[in-house]
Amino acid sequence: MEHVQVLIAGGGIAGLSAAIWCQRLGLSCLLVEKTDRLGGQLHQIHNEIWDFPPRVYAQGASLLEDLSRHPSVQKLAVRFEEELVAIDRVAKTVTTSKALYRVDYLLVATGVAPNQIPALDGCPRVLPPSFSTTAEATSVAGLDLAVIGGGDRAVESAVNLTKHARHVTLLIRSNHLRARPDWLRKMAALPNLTVLWETEVSGFLHREDRLWLTLASRRPENPQHLLVDLILPRIGVHGNCAGLDGLTMFGDGYLKTDDFQRSDDAWIYGLGDVTNGAAYASLSLAVGQAMKAVKHISMHGRSSTPF
Ligand SMILES: Cc1cc2nc3c(=O)[nH]c(=O)nc-3n(C[C@H](O)[C@H](O)[C@H](O)COP(=O)(O)OP(=O)(O)OC[C@H]3O[C@@H](n4cnc5c(N)ncnc54)[C@H](O)[C@@H]3O)c2cc1C
Repeated sequence: MEHVQVLIAGGGIAGLSAAIWCQRLGLSCLLVEKTDRLGGQLHQIHNEIWDFPPRVYAQGASLLEDLSRHPSVQKLAVRFEEELVAIDRVAKTVTTSKALYRVDYLLVATGVAPNQIPALDGCPRVLPPSFSTTAEATSVAGLDLAVIGGGDRAVESAVNLTKHARHVTLLIRSNHLRARPDWLRKMAALPNLTVLWETEVSGFLHREDRLWLTLASRRPENPQHLLVDLILPRIGVHGNCAGLDGLTMFGDGYLKTDDFQRSDDAWIYGLGDVTNGAAYASLSLAVGQAMKAVKHISMHGRSSTPF
């Protein structure tokens, strides 16, 4: 069984920042990443990033380019297509999809994944979560779309798509928007946007490259069917908590941590979106948490755990 001083699960900005701090503080680390590339959600950011000082980045890809050039990231030991599967909290071992490790510290930086709509399982005309309603919006020119969700991203997506789509229907499950109130004003002024409140998709039929959606609504005046070309679900995310069984969680699969990013077990830390919940998901918080966790290991771990 391989021994690893600090095992980092997840190669998004949280995991990569943790790796940088490990190298800076003289801890040896190994990073396992589920997919075949580093960056996590940075690949999905097509908007300008202006809140990660000091630079303004045109999009996530340019930030990732900078990050990948960092000397510590270049030197980093990464195992791709290897995911955290289970933790033995007593034996201090970590099982991944490819190996079993004995570890001194585990940093969980597995981020979040989009929620799914069971009624759309197998539906061929659902746009992927990474679909950019700015960079890729022209690909829906002249089409009818349904956007599902009531948060900022759903509303922003629906508004963006109206610039190119023939018609956009926003399906909102509740009777209020979770998005910023000023969006309501923006939406009301758009002639090709319809909002169906308290309405969900309950099924679909695929006919000649179009979708015949069956709708369930508490409002009798709302239609029971909707014909669209494409669907864009924007119904939020959940923490990637696979393998974290037995640790205290909150909300939708988020790992609960203390002030130093420690979970219930002093050798398991959580950083980035998997510990933050959707409301506080941000690049700067992920980077700060990585520093705090690794510094804590460096300052307190050495005395209690012989490396
Ligand atoms: C469209 C969009 C726009 C955004 N815009 C901004 C913005 O302007 N400013 C801002 O501050 N924030 C923004 N964010 C949020 C920001 O991108 C995230 O807060 C940040 O990237 C989270 O980083 P992370 O490392 O915690 O998680 P992630 O980036 O999700 O990385 C997690 C990594 O872990 C991997 N993984 C998952 N499960 C496992 C497993 N079991 N084992 C091993 N690896 C695993 C994943 O493949 C992924 O590579 C935006 C997000 C999106 C989606």
